Amino acid sequence: MKIGFLIDIDGVLKLGHRPIPGADEFIAFLEAENVPFVLVTNNSTKTPEDVADSLSKLGIEVTQSHVITSAVATGIYLSENFGVGRHAFVIGEKGLKTAVKGIGWTVLENHRGAEFVIVGLDRSCDYAKVTEAVRSIVVEGAKFIASNDDRTMPSENGPMAGAGTIVASVRYATGVEPIVIGKPNRFIGEIALKRLKELTQADIDEVVVMGDRPETDIKLAKNMVESMHDIISVKSILVLSGITPREKAETLPPDLKPDFVINSVADVKNIWGALI
Ligand SMILES: [Mg+2]
Repeated sequence: MKIGFLIDIDGVLKLGHRPIPGADEFIAFLEAENVPFVLVTNNSTKTPEDVADSLSKLGIEVTQSHVITSAVATGIYLSENFGVGRHAFVIGEKGLKTAVKGIGWTVLENHRGAEFVIVGLDRSCDYAKVTEAVRSIVVEGAKFIASNDDRTMPSENGPMAGAGTIVASVRYATGVEPIVIGKPNRFIGEIALKRLKELTQADIDEVVVMGDRPETDIKLAKNMVESMHDIISVKSILVLSGITPREKAETLPPDLKPDFVINSVADVKNIWGALI
């Protein structure tokens, strides 16, 4: 039985710029035990290299091959489905633009000639960018792709507006629904599972998904159960160190209910026997 972990970053390993106690030890434990893991984040702003660097500054030692962002997953999805040499208007930061350029696509300055609109979190997004995205879809007939649809993201000062707030603006103006690549959708799950298999060079029988948000992380686990028949089982762990308070965790509907609820990553050891 080969087990692999898909681990969320924000709210699980770190909160804003602070590490969550026990995160460094947990990752070191997985490495020592040869348990494959991939860090799966809906945050599209950074490249995998930047994510790995910022985690290692917090004492959490991973390489960029351990990191799948929604930006990377979007790039892989677009290149597998639409090939090379396409033109896109992108609302997003370095991580998303690097991923789109990395598959041989051109990132446009405005809507003219846009075949795709790709939206992720952009902390300098303004009215002009949203208008270009809207014109790309309405005038140019561009396909609408979103790296993720998160309403908020956790920080040490409280929740921040997520990529979903920008996606919602474009959706509202155009009436067009995007294809969403990030969690909880199976696209990113399939890409992360493939990476797990590459890291371990073996098939994976069981996947454990750990995260702090039921709507993305726990739902991803449920969606993987439905769409991936080559895995024997998927288990889910909700941690209370991020966006979800205990009261909410206790009243989740069945489609968002995790197999385990723990205070933080430091408590995985207490349920280890039930996971493997
Ligand atoms: Mg999270």
